[in-house]
Amino acid sequence: MNSVRKHIRQMHPYIPGEQPKERGLVKLNTNENPYPPAPKVLSAIKRAVDGRLRLYPDPRANRLREQLAGIHGVDSENVIIGNGSDELLGLATRAFVDPDKDSVQYFTPSYSLYPVLVDIHNAKRNEVCLLDDFSLPTVAQLRKDKEWDFKAALTYITTPNAPTGRGYTTAELDALCRAQKGVVVLDEAYVDFAEENAMDLASKHSHVLVSRTFSKAYSLCFQRIGYFVGSRELISALDKIRDSYNVNGLGQVAAEATLENLIYYRSNFRKIIKLRENIVMILEGLGFESLPSQTNFILTKPPRFAASVWLKKLRARKVLVRQFKEAHVKDYLRVTVGTEKDMNVLLQAVRSILKS
Ligand code: PMP
Repeated sequence: MNSVRKHIRQMHPYIPGEQPKERGLVKLNTNENPYPPAPKVLSAIKRAVDGRLRLYPDPRANRLREQLAGIHGVDSENVIIGNGSDELLGLATRAFVDPDKDSVQYFTPSYSLYPVLVDIHNAKRNEVCLLDDFSLPTVAQLRKDKEWDFKAALTYITTPNAPTGRGYTTAELDALCRAQKGVVVLDEAYVDFAEENAMDLASKHSHVLVSRTFSKAYSLCFQRIGYFVGSRELISALDKIRDSYNVNGLGQVAAEATLENLIYYRSNFRKIIKLRENIVMILEGLGFESLPSQTNFILTKPPRFAASVWLKKLRARKVLVRQFKEAHVKDYLRVTVGTEKDMNVLLQAVRSILKS
């Protein structure tokens, strides 16, 4: 007898980027921030490590919610914190999607976790291709396209997109949100590296949730903190079904201290954006075709060898990047923007591969 439910047996799990054990690799494969958290964040965490660890943390992360509400000009009831934004993306399927009749839709390519979340929930996937240059179709184009479902119970939009790096304007997202009947999650994991953000749409439309994370821009992957902003109705539904203590205590301390040190992070965003633009130019001179990026990574089509071969050749030179198997993006490498030193190692490796 097989005790595992059929759809769980059949589904493929999410495959995270490699976290290598080997030392000395330049890690440009998981879009982590190359800079450490602010010194005051590290000391806040250290100060919190004492006998209080025996106590449960604040189940609703109230202080952090209030800080975020202040920053985004909403009420704390419009904010929910998750164990990373991944947790909240998963809760959204459980709260808003009836697996017997509803579908969840998203564009391809976008964040590769979405299909996994839909499969876990045993709901229907509705995958719709972006345009050939990976830009967002207009509502008029989607109306002609029979595949797009304006009544989908849940729509995820990664903005700026991953793994393409392309940014979408708030105006085009607003038009799409207005046309949708079901819940729309705007996943802004990389938005601090972009020119625009769509946070206002979370207040403007009661069916829109904006998802953010402390993982990328705020150097806190390790602590697992993400959040959604949206209407009371949607946020309270998610709040009902989350684990009571979903956000660990040291994570709350770290995120609270992060918000008190935003100047430090803003200067890191500027460094990363400037380096991103430089690298795109240098790679172009070496024959790489990169998509315009509004994130802390670049999707780039390498010359001479297949992307899968580049992946191995770079690895042999101690540089770790990511390559996806999906048809739309299999010819590209996704390269996280690291420090200037990391990028020099990358360029040195690229030049040596091109000479080989
Ligand atoms: N959204 C997107 C588009 C991502 O790439 C990631 C990171 N893999 C996440 C959300 C999740 O971030 P976290 O769970 O670390 O907050």
